[in-house]
Amino acid sequence: PVPKDPPKIHRLDESVVNRIAAGEVIQRPVSAVKELVENSLDAHSTSINVIVKDGGLKLIQVSDDGHGIRYEDLPILCERHTTSKLSAYEDLQSIKSMGFRGEALASMTYVAHVTVTTITEGQLHGYRVSYRDGAMENQPKACAAVKGTQIMVENLFYNMIARRKTLQNSADDYSKIVDLLSRFAIHHTNVSFSCRKHGAARADVHSVVTSSRLDSIRSVYGVSVARNVMKIEVSDSNPSSSVFDMNGFISDANYTAKKTTMVLFINDRLVECTGLKRAIEIVYAATLPKASKPFVYMSIVLPPEHVDVNVHPTKREVSLLNQEIIVEKIQLAVESKLRSSNEAKTFHEQT
Ligand code: ADP
Ligand code: MG
Repeated sequence: PVPKDPPKIHRLDESVVNRIAAGEVIQRPVSAVKELVENSLDAHSTSINVIVKDGGLKLIQVSDDGHGIRYEDLPILCERHTTSKLSAYEDLQSIKSMGFRGEALASMTYVAHVTVTTITEGQLHGYRVSYRDGAMENQPKACAAVKGTQIMVENLFYNMIARRKTLQNSADDYSKIVDLLSRFAIHHTNVSFSCRKHGAARADVHSVVTSSRLDSIRSVYGVSVARNVMKIEVSDSNPSSSVFDMNGFISDANYTAKKTTMVLFINDRLVECTGLKRAIEIVYAATLPKASKPFVYMSIVLPPEHVDVNVHPTKREVSLLNQEIIVEKIQLAVESKLRSSNEAKTFHEQT
C-alpha cells in the first residue's frame, strides 16, 4: 500500500554527499589516471610514469618530475575545492592549466586510499602523507625523494561495492589507461610518458621527448599507422566567422582499422567532440569507403574565451563558440586532403 503522507525530506550527511560527488568525478580507474596525469602536466613535468595493478582497482601510481607541492599546503591538499590554479571565476576565461576545480584529489580520497610523496626545489628531503575522506591521516613524514611528486591511489572504490563489482567484471580498464597515455604521449611530445602493469618488465606505452610528432606517432601507435598518415593544417583568422588553428595527422587510403581512433586536443586539453568526429567519419565513408575507420590526431587552438571548459564534471566535453563553422572548415580540409591523396594514389597505381 502507498503511504498517504509524503516522505520527510532530510539533509544528507556530508560524508555521503562527498562520496556521491566523488563517484561522479572519478567514474572508473581511467578517470583517476587522467586527473593525476593532468596534474603532473600542470606541474610542468617532463617525465610522467604510470604503474597500474589489477586494472587500477588495486593500485594506480603516477610519478612525475614537476615542481612538487609545498609542505605548508599538504594539510589542505586533498580538501574539496582547494587549488593553486584558479582564484576568481573570471580566471576560467583564460585558464591554461588543465585542472581548476580542486576536486580531483579530494574525490580520490573519498573513494580510495591516497598517499602523496613530494619534494620541492632546493629541499634536502621530501614528505610523505596519506589521506582519507579529504583529510590527512597522519602528519607528513620526512622521506627521501627525487624531484617531483608521486601519488598512489590504492583500493579504488573500496567503499562503493556495486561500482567495484561492475569494474571487476570488465577486463578492459587497463587498455583504457594505455589508450589514454598513448593520446597524451603523441600530443605532449616534450614530455616522456610510460605506462606499465605493476611488476611488468616492459612498458605498454613508452615515449621519449622528440621534436617530431610523426616520430612519436610511430613510437606509440606503431609503424603501420605512422606510414599511412598525412599532415593536415587549417587556419582561419577571420574574426567575423571563427578564429582557430588546426594541425594534425589523418590516415590515408592505405590505412584500415576496425574502429576510428580520434585523438583530439583543444587548447591542449584532451577532449571529445562528437560532432567533429561524426563529420570526419562521414567524409571518409564518402571518399575512401575501404578506409572508412580513420586514425585522426588533431590539435585545435582557439582564443581561450571561445572555449567553455566547464560544461562537464569530467571536463571531457567542451563547448566552442562557432562550433558548426569550425567543424565545417575542418571537414572541407579533410575532404580535399583525401581527394588529392586518392588521386595521387590512383595515378601511381596506373603508371
Ligand atoms: P586542480 O588540479 O583542479 O587544482 P586537484 O585536486 O587535481 O585540483 O589538485 C589540487 C592541487 O594539488 C593542485 O591545484 C596542485 O596545486 C596540487 N597538485 C596536485 N597534483 C600535483 C602534482 N603532481 N604536482 C604538483 N602539484 C600537484
Ligand atoms: Mg587536477
